[in-house]
Amino acid sequence: MDIFNEMNTRGHEQILFSHEPSCGYFGIIGIHDTTLGPALGGTRVWQYASTDEALNDVLRLSRGMTYKSAVAGLNLGGGKAVIIADPKRADRESLFRAHGRFVDSLGGRYITAEDVGTSPQDMEFVKRETRHVAGLLNLSGDPSPVTGYGVYMGMKAAAKQRWGKDTLEGKTVAVQGAGKVAHFLMGHLHEEGAKLLVSDIDAEKVKVCVDEFGATAVAPEAIYDAKAEIFAPCALGGILNDDTIARLNAVIIAGGANNQLADERHGEAVEARGILYAPDYVINSGGVINVYGELQGWTTERSKRKAQEIYDTILRVFAIAERDGVPSYQAADRLAEERLSSVAALKDMWLAGDR
Ligand code: NAD
Repeated sequence: MDIFNEMNTRGHEQILFSHEPSCGYFGIIGIHDTTLGPALGGTRVWQYASTDEALNDVLRLSRGMTYKSAVAGLNLGGGKAVIIADPKRADRESLFRAHGRFVDSLGGRYITAEDVGTSPQDMEFVKRETRHVAGLLNLSGDPSPVTGYGVYMGMKAAAKQRWGKDTLEGKTVAVQGAGKVAHFLMGHLHEEGAKLLVSDIDAEKVKVCVDEFGATAVAPEAIYDAKAEIFAPCALGGILNDDTIARLNAVIIAGGANNQLADERHGEAVEARGILYAPDYVINSGGVINVYGELQGWTTERSKRKAQEIYDTILRVFAIAERDGVPSYQAADRLAEERLSSVAALKDMWLAGDR
């Protein structure tokens, strides 16, 4: 891979490659854009097959964080780190303290947090070497309540756009996954009087939702064919694809899972079927709002109030889609880019403190 060429094409500011031989640490930290603030994004631990594969993940995921924080209205840029190692590796202190030292070397330009293959305990090791870390034990904790609430607000906005009223009472919502985000989402939906269909490969988790929310259990593969007005993907990525889009009965897709579109062209395919799609990284931004809240010392209630704004943001995305005649997933990118360029323009104004 021609690294400078990739950075130029995708707009990255800085990539740090680091090595600590004493513990076999190999890490890459990617800073995509710091127009809005320090680059925030989790650290992923994965046994990548090659350095190129690891670098590609850093480039892709750090850029995604710039867009996610931009549309969430946070004063954060986009970054991401990967450590090339077995995620189940036992000797974690040396690995994560080495990582913390490299994070610290960036002087706060990058703030790390948990991601795939890391835990709050790992972040405690990072914390011993740097203060530029979030997602610590006993602080903001599990982001799922805020994420689930944000998805609920975004779903109501999609209902408003589709039906002119944001009430979900009496609507049938097919929820894929009965994990943490889905559970909190279903709590809000049940309280409002929505009918719930739920699927998960873990039957125990489905049973909890049946008992707690009166949900109807659906077999995992059957969730795409379910008779529901709203489909809420809250498990895996890539589930909107050539096979599944044609099977959906829903007229709204609004769920918490990351990377729902298998490919960008599936964003067009959803649109062509007349389905309103609430873009994933906008509707699930409660997670990053929660981390931001931790950095600001907010309570969960305050973070939830910020996540309430997802309602207006989703409506703004749909308005841009109509204004520009583009699918909603592209409209979300435009919203992010508009905020980035408007804030960047402010910095052209000279202040007395500027050199
Ligand atoms: P989780 O692990 O608690 O839940 C995921 C659930 O999906 C599990 O119960 C799992 O058994 C189930 N699942 C796996 N394969 C399935 C299949 N084929 N059919 C049905 N169910 C299946 O994870 P979570 O924290 O609730 O996250 C869910 C999604 O939301 C993920 O895509 C995650 O990246 C995204 N997300 C989460 C947060 C957060 O705050 N937790 C924030 C932003 C995005």
